Amino acid sequence: MRAKVGTPPSRAEVPPESLHPHGVPLGASPAHPSHVTGKAQAGEPGATSRRVRQNRHKHLPRFGEVRLLASRHCSRHGYNRAAMDNKSRSPKTGPTKPAATNFIRNIIADDLVRGTYEPRNWAGKPGVYDIHVNAPADPAKIRTRFPPEPNGYLHIGHAKSICLNFGLARDFGGRCHMRFDDTNPVKEDQEFVDGILGAVRWLGFDWEHGGESNLYHASDYFEQMYRFAEHLIETGYAYVDEQSADAMRETRGTLTEPGRNSPFRDRPIEESLRLFREMRAGRHAEGSMILRAKIDMGSPNINMRDPAIYRIRFAEHHMTGDAWKIYPMYAYAHPIEDALENITHSICTLEFEDQRPFYDWVLERIVPLLRRPQFEAAQRALEEIRNAGTEAKREFALRCRNFGDKLGASRYERRAEAMFASWSRNPDLAAQDADEFFKLLLEYTECFTPLLQSALDERKANPFLLPHQHEFNRLNLTYVVMSKRKLIQLVEEKHVDGWDDPRMPTIVGLRRRGYTPTSLQLFAERTGVSKSTQWIDYSLLEQALRDDLEARAPRATAVLKPLKLVLDNYPAGQTETVTLPMHPQHPEMGTRTIPFARELWIEADDFMEQAPADYFRLALGKDGAPAQPVRLRYAYVIRATSVEKDAAGNVVVHAEYLPETKSGSPGQNSVKTKTAIHWLPVQGSIPAEVRVFDRLFTDPHPDAGEGDLLRLLNPNSKQVLKAFVEP
Ligand code: ATP
Ligand code: MG
Repeated sequence: MRAKVGTPPSRAEVPPESLHPHGVPLGASPAHPSHVTGKAQAGEPGATSRRVRQNRHKHLPRFGEVRLLASRHCSRHGYNRAAMDNKSRSPKTGPTKPAATNFIRNIIADDLVRGTYEPRNWAGKPGVYDIHVNAPADPAKIRTRFPPEPNGYLHIGHAKSICLNFGLARDFGGRCHMRFDDTNPVKEDQEFVDGILGAVRWLGFDWEHGGESNLYHASDYFEQMYRFAEHLIETGYAYVDEQSADAMRETRGTLTEPGRNSPFRDRPIEESLRLFREMRAGRHAEGSMILRAKIDMGSPNINMRDPAIYRIRFAEHHMTGDAWKIYPMYAYAHPIEDALENITHSICTLEFEDQRPFYDWVLERIVPLLRRPQFEAAQRALEEIRNAGTEAKREFALRCRNFGDKLGASRYERRAEAMFASWSRNPDLAAQDADEFFKLLLEYTECFTPLLQSALDERKANPFLLPHQHEFNRLNLTYVVMSKRKLIQLVEEKHVDGWDDPRMPTIVGLRRRGYTPTSLQLFAERTGVSKSTQWIDYSLLEQALRDDLEARAPRATAVLKPLKLVLDNYPAGQTETVTLPMHPQHPEMGTRTIPFARELWIEADDFMEQAPADYFRLALGKDGAPAQPVRLRYAYVIRATSVEKDAAGNVVVHAEYLPETKSGSPGQNSVKTKTAIHWLPVQGSIPAEVRVFDRLFTDPHPDAGEGDLLRLLNPNSKQVLKAFVEP
């Protein structure tokens, strides 16, 4: 078997014997030989083309796992210890090559130049800006976050998001927060919290920075979220809606039709406030009412048609117990979590693009509470402009008109909107109206924060220091399903052996399959960041592992499907020691020894009784001609002589060895061979159960369409073999 992981070395670089790196890379599971490089000897005529041919039609490597049936000796080479005890080390550094640039990196670099998030202080913990204002300058140049919902195990898509968020923070001198988005009490669980933290740490990242832990929970902010909701009600931007769920759905409109206003939309502020407080107190039934943002039922973006921001849920929360009877909706909670943590770049997948207007809307509307110091600074800036004279006032007023779409429905904003309309007809009116316009801005600043966030940007980038959401393409991988619902189905219906089954795309599963943290980081880096939907071929994931392990994994031999070989002219009872390199290209990694004897195990696939002309491995001679010579790797050249069945019906191959051809001896090249096969001694090899895994699905897009996922399961995705591994 040549379970070689990686590209074959070029012939010029390595001695002939080394052309056959063989065995199982430690720290990873063994790859199935014929699916990795084929059986032909690298560098040998015709080998490459056949290798390519063989592989083109088969799935690429099937990594497996080895369980030693006998425990002795297994520590000597650390046999696949990583896969066995699940303790492969996590690198604290990222991939060695500098990260390729992408649009998010460009945005960050640009923000750093513009000072979009400067000045920014950090009190050592999240909160409204009042707590930061007198604290030292934030030591983190940027802040990102990884915000999973603790309702399942993380998968390869999350790994991509983790590597991106933590990687950006690492590369730009920032920090990445680990945050649980635990706003939905029904689906969340401590088991998942622990699993997620373990997975992120194993991937090589952590959230401790200079004695400070940046591990947070959305539920830490429930009180603030509630306070902000009251503020929205008080300023006329949220109302309690008592329509039934059906009525709400029905009045929401469609992609082509606008929605219709709720009959509760214009109820008095005091009434909404009272009802909202009663909701909190548990005085109303689940589903009887919700708090909705008051935005625009006619918006072409359905997310802006008065989205729900709080609902009633009588459920036990894993962090807050039964303290809350109402829970914020994700779309409302998320921007607040980001803002309280002083996140600068909030990176998410593209399906949230249509949510960005609401993300901004929430934050811009709560600026008076969230960013009081900046809010007051904005008022001072407005006074300065007002005092700077007619021309400055007129100019700023006209600038504000460019952001008319930021105006909401309050009386004061309507008044401003009317002015903007008249200035569009006659710009001279702006000078006349300027005093009244500034009076509005200064007296009712809390209504104009969305407008000012844009209009004041020219004087000071991002005046209210708000985080910004950036979307990138989610990772789609062929042959893999990532939907939590479908992964849960696979586990619950026992199509796999649990969340950490090596065929699962979960991080715990990939880890058992033999993937290393470095390989997953490499993969995340290589799959890039863009705005276009892409399908990544599964082989790219496998290649990342090969590239990580090829140079550093010590080799060892396993015979997966053992076939007995007897060398009739080798003296019974005699043994000799064969020395093999730990790594064919890295002599500094040392050597290992295997006893050589008369009775050996070889791979069943390495022998054919009736072989076609292009079969170069062990075969009987044809038409009375002697059999072709084949090398037993690192040992002797042999020729097959006969086949027999033993008493138990097992096939036994007989051969003769050529004593003068021992590897490393002067006669080693005296007989030409076209290939070398691997072997183990019958005496002393360790029996092992080897599990060889293939892809879980036979279809590259198992998720596509609404067809039955289960019909696409690969019936041969797990093969259990009784194998031998070297002593
Ligand atoms: P849910 O349907 O429960 O929301 P989810 O896969 O989005 O499932 P989250 O826990 O919300 O799970 O995800 C945490 C983070 O991981 C989010 O920022 C999300 O955008 C990111 N993420 C999830 N799947 C992928 C993916 N396939 N590629 C890249 N990022 C992903
Ligand atoms: Mg999600």
